[in-house]
Amino acid sequence: MTTLALIARNRLALWGGIVLILVILLALVTPWLPLYPPNATDPSIKNAWFGEEGHLLGTDHLGRDILSRLLWGTRVSLAIGFASAVIAAVLGAAIGIVAGYFGGRTDNILMRLIDLIMGFPYILLALAIVAALGPGLMNALIAVAAVNIPFFARNIRGVTVGIAHKEFVDAAKLAGMGHVRIILTEILPNVVPVIVVAASTTVGWMILETAGLSFLGLGSQPPDPDLGSMLGLAKDSLITDPHVSYPPGLMILIIVMSINLLGDGIRDALDPRLRSGALSRPAAATTVDRRGAAPAFRDEGILEMTDLSTEFRLKRRTYKAVGGVTLAVKPGECLGIIGESGSGKSVTALSVMGLVASPPGVITGGAVYVEGEDTVGMPYRQLRALRGDRVAYIFQDPLATLHPLFTVGDQLVEAIRVHHRVSDKEARAKALELLKQVRIPNAESRIDSYPHEMSGGMRQRVGIAMALANDPEVIIADEPTTALDVTVQAQILSLLSDLRRERGLAIVFITHDFGVVAQLCDRVAVMYAGRIVEEGSTSDILRSPAHPYTKRLIACVPELGEGKRALAAIPGLPPAVDRLPDGCHFADRCPKARDVCRQDDVALMGQGGRAVRCLFPEAEVPGAPEAVPGPPVEAEPITADRVEAAQ
Ligand code: ADP
Ligand code: MG
Repeated sequence: MTTLALIARNRLALWGGIVLILVILLALVTPWLPLYPPNATDPSIKNAWFGEEGHLLGTDHLGRDILSRLLWGTRVSLAIGFASAVIAAVLGAAIGIVAGYFGGRTDNILMRLIDLIMGFPYILLALAIVAALGPGLMNALIAVAAVNIPFFARNIRGVTVGIAHKEFVDAAKLAGMGHVRIILTEILPNVVPVIVVAASTTVGWMILETAGLSFLGLGSQPPDPDLGSMLGLAKDSLITDPHVSYPPGLMILIIVMSINLLGDGIRDALDPRLRSGALSRPAAATTVDRRGAAPAFRDEGILEMTDLSTEFRLKRRTYKAVGGVTLAVKPGECLGIIGESGSGKSVTALSVMGLVASPPGVITGGAVYVEGEDTVGMPYRQLRALRGDRVAYIFQDPLATLHPLFTVGDQLVEAIRVHHRVSDKEARAKALELLKQVRIPNAESRIDSYPHEMSGGMRQRVGIAMALANDPEVIIADEPTTALDVTVQAQILSLLSDLRRERGLAIVFITHDFGVVAQLCDRVAVMYAGRIVEEGSTSDILRSPAHPYTKRLIACVPELGEGKRALAAIPGLPPAVDRLPDGCHFADRCPKARDVCRQDDVALMGQGGRAVRCLFPEAEVPGAPEAVPGPPVEAEPITADRVEAAQ
């Protein structure tokens, strides 16, 4: 969505923008309007009331036309306000970028200077500057710009510090770019939105400050009007003729209000998260738009998905991330979901508890039964009671899921107390117990550690402890070991395996790694482009994969000790889920695909938990078409030219 459209969607910002544009237009055309000269006095009609003697807004104490002075004054006030905003933004941003980018001593010196300016009250400092430079519009402009530089410098420095150590800046340095070029091409584009936002929210303030200086007689000099000086003059006759002060006062109010409303709108629109719609109306649970009745409960497991479909509805496209997934897990069982990145594993998992972000996510069909209760379209209160209590999640990156500012003990206690009314002491005892269960060494002292004080493996153990906190029946683990090294991965897997036996947990284990599946899972479902293409017991699938995709996926797993064997990558890419082909989704990458594969949807065929979605499977599956074994997946040795071709 374009920025303008986003701003316009915010009603208040739209009105602010319209009013501001009108005022600016009015100020621009003022010289051509049939007005009295702004400084022409007429002592015969002093302080005339609105509309008297052809003076629409009356006259002031010297008989000057207020309408004319108001418009000319608005011109001046706007020009000074915007000019000082631009000056303050440019200088402040330059200081901020230099300080943030170079850091160290440069940063220290610049920021201490800025602190020095910030040490004085705003208006007092402006007064001092004008006093030193002498009254006058130009000097007021300089003063207002100067006192606002620290605001920009501080803001921009903060943002720059965050960017200056990002990988793309390091990459630019390694590429041999000079500082100036890095600042201009890498840093500046990233801070411009912040500068614009800071400027748009402070212009109003600067117009007020300029008006303040003029009000005190330090800005615009008589007889030239600006809004502040008009108010200043009107105050002398405030008791007898208050109406003289209304027009400039109202005009200041209108300008500052409209700028602030518009500024807020700009800030919201420039936030990339708002842009994508991710923050616009975050729903507590995924939207459900299920046509037709929910599929019936089959009583095949403690967690049972039937024909679950989830899509992302963006403006022009619909991404069918999950296209009818049917799965079940029994207590004590571990089901693996395996597939390439983007195949819809995470979205399937998140759909179970309505955790897919809405908008844009929508569950469009199917049912998810947790202990026989359908969670699709369940009232939010009920769903919330289930989340974390009956069904818990373990995510890939424990550092991202743990709060950085609380100790792991506090976070565990919180997780427990959300669902159970227990005293702090009991909860803490339980937390300690959990940490011991997930084999955290020295749990007594570790309970007071912060997440950053722990290693990756230890954090993931805490993540698992958190998932266990309320004795859930089902744990959904979304690539919990992907961020860990192999030895830690093995420990975590054996921990999960033990916990499953001890507690009779049902585990849904999502991964892209057949090695992990082999270690932990009883059954496997292979996902491709949002659908299950094969399922069965782990041993069946590893021994005789029936879908050409599964076969190739297994061939991708490196085997230790098989020195000469190189990896067989699957040529091509999975189809984009907004433009799924007819028929078999894998056909384009399948060496055996025939015309019939591309015609109608291929069903998942089989019986007794072993099934395959293929017309010409690689291996015999009862209930599926006859096997037509294709050529063995040849793993070519890695040669120098293949490495080059890959680069
Ligand atoms: P993975 O199997 O790697 O976990 P996901 O379930 O995360 O894959 O994603 C499945 C598909 O859904 C992908 O094609 C992805 O591009 C799409 N997708 C995920 N989240 C969003 C989103 N917020 N907006 C649009 N598409 C999304
Ligand atoms: Mg994922």
